Amino acid sequence: MKKGFFITGTDTGIGKTMATYVLGLLLKAKGCDVGVMKPVQCGGDDSVFLKKNLELEDDIKEINPYFARTPVSPHIAFSKENKRINEKEICAGYEKLKAKHDVLLVEGAGGVMVPLKNNYLVLDLIRDLDLEVIIISRLGLGSINHTLLTINQIREVGLNVRGVLFNQCTEEKSGVPEKTNPDVIQQFGKVPILGAIPFMRNITSKVVLQQCRAKIDISKLLKSSSSKNQTRKLQAWDKKYVWHPFTQMKDWVKEEPLVVDEAKGCYLMDTQGKRYLDGVSSLWVNVHGHRHPQLDRAVKDQINRLSHSTLLGLSNTPAVELAKKLVEITPRGLDKVFYSDNGSTSVEIAVKMAYQYWQNIGRKKKKNIAHLANSYHGDTLGSVSVGGIDLFHKVYRNLIFKTIKIDFPDCYRAPKGKTYPDYAFESLKRFEQLLKRRHATMAAFVVEPIVQGAAGMIMWPKGVLKEMHRLCKKYDVIFIVDEVATGFGRTGKMFACEHEAVVPDILCLAKGLTGGYLPLAATLVSQKIFDGFCFDYTSQKAFFHGHTYTGNPLACAAALANLEIFQKEQTLKRMRPKIKFLQKGLKRFYDLPHIGDVRQRGFMVGIELVQNRHTKAPYPWEEKVGARVCQEAKRHGVILRPLGNVIVLMPPLSMTLKQLDMLLRETYSAIQKVTMNTH
Ligand SMILES: *Cc1c(COP(=O)(O)O)cnc(C)c1O
Repeated sequence: MKKGFFITGTDTGIGKTMATYVLGLLLKAKGCDVGVMKPVQCGGDDSVFLKKNLELEDDIKEINPYFARTPVSPHIAFSKENKRINEKEICAGYEKLKAKHDVLLVEGAGGVMVPLKNNYLVLDLIRDLDLEVIIISRLGLGSINHTLLTINQIREVGLNVRGVLFNQCTEEKSGVPEKTNPDVIQQFGKVPILGAIPFMRNITSKVVLQQCRAKIDISKLLKSSSSKNQTRKLQAWDKKYVWHPFTQMKDWVKEEPLVVDEAKGCYLMDTQGKRYLDGVSSLWVNVHGHRHPQLDRAVKDQINRLSHSTLLGLSNTPAVELAKKLVEITPRGLDKVFYSDNGSTSVEIAVKMAYQYWQNIGRKKKKNIAHLANSYHGDTLGSVSVGGIDLFHKVYRNLIFKTIKIDFPDCYRAPKGKTYPDYAFESLKRFEQLLKRRHATMAAFVVEPIVQGAAGMIMWPKGVLKEMHRLCKKYDVIFIVDEVATGFGRTGKMFACEHEAVVPDILCLAKGLTGGYLPLAATLVSQKIFDGFCFDYTSQKAFFHGHTYTGNPLACAAALANLEIFQKEQTLKRMRPKIKFLQKGLKRFYDLPHIGDVRQRGFMVGIELVQNRHTKAPYPWEEKVGARVCQEAKRHGVILRPLGNVIVLMPPLSMTLKQLDMLLRETYSAIQKVTMNTH
């Protein structure tokens, strides 16, 4: 069992070194081989003290690689001596020491927000070392604020606080704060309290052990064996009881499934407390990060009012407010909102509406639905009918209705002799000819605008969407736009339609609608479509569709908060430099020989891996190259999910430059590693 903890204080002079010493002694008494590292020290003899009193055999240079004489903030102390801290060296030294001991205690310098050098805080070092944190806090009046601030700051970056250990720094008698503060901090900080180090004059190991043993619960630090057991149990139950989507379960049960237990910001945490960067927004849904305070609050507040009531025969406050808001923020000309629970149903509803619209107004021949040949609109039978990805759809061939498939060029693989994007416009000409011939029987045309997601992040050339829309209008075919994936900022604009000022007749929304919190979808329609359903009751022309959870108040409340955050945090504006950063960072990927194509629109990225760059020959699907790249990235703390041989990056819009950088770096090296030995 190898473990490491980072020991930080709520302030300097709080007794970090004393605490490290005490923890070291207690761990040793439990039979652990304890090592200590004090990567950065300014003045004093903490490292020497620890080496001597914990009887450490490691070289003092290993324990303390960076020493400056002046007791001031490290970035000043070291620049005074013309020395520069290199975090990579610290990490390498840490790994070496960790290999030698069961438990390694890494003592910080000052608190977490202390700069070690320009743009690099103690907190950044903790992240680079990827350690759980033990906070040392003074026992006494005035420590609640600093302790809670420290806890928040640590969690803000996705790290785990393992516990708070108090230190009684003076001999004064215990008063009320000494007695009550630990409970207050436990309650408000939701952290384990490890105990309190009493004031001691004599600090020989014998006395310390005697005084501290009963007061400090060291087993809380060693507990991970039980979390390991818990993980094993969950993994076993998963294999026994859960059937995973789009998964060959025969293979699944051979693997060790990662069980996600917590999340914060752009990080997911598994049952062992290991952090992973959420590189695909938990399957394209998360927008502002996990556990965004405002979203959390909105859902909690709504729980205190109403969790569910039906839209069949009744209305509810969040559903009404959200409908108004959606009409306001979507392209002008979409006037009514029909709710459902997921992307597939939002499309299925759109298709049913378009079909029934023509029936209702007496143009009964308009029955056919057209869609792009390689489209994806969901997994229910209606949405599968308008989909064209063979692997997902062919087995259900006999269950689905007939459609008209419009051929649409892959931006990467134009046919022989054709160039892109000219070819795309040629195919539009064919589309017009088809419309000319068949518009009298064509009810609607469904597309994913600008980016065809599940088809492999296929990007449309500029102008295609606008032209398709124009043609549908001209030939009186209902234009359905599926923005389930592209909506809510993914392409850099709130909705992908806005790139070409297109107002569809019907718009489908889901995935990002609730910021990734709860299942909710909306199908928005123009007044004209809506009017096609408003007749006398006896005509039986109402729209006969509705799900039990339609317009669920909790989901609608989350969606409202999601939209408020877009405004408040200026999410779209703040994405712009990040989109540029991605664009720049992605260029480097062409250095790798097996990268065929890198395509990006906003925060939607597809990296296509090929066996041969010149012939564009794909890897055989049986080799699972995409999946193997994602496996490799997972080992390095990044969660990705491929589409065949296309690696998808779809980070939450709130992902920081630093995190994007990590996402790019780990993706790059995972691709490099997996494709290195392929031919
Ligand atoms: C994901 C997706 C869907 C299906 O949404 P679900 O919520 O999974 O049913 C439909 N259309 C597009 C474009 C999608 O990306």
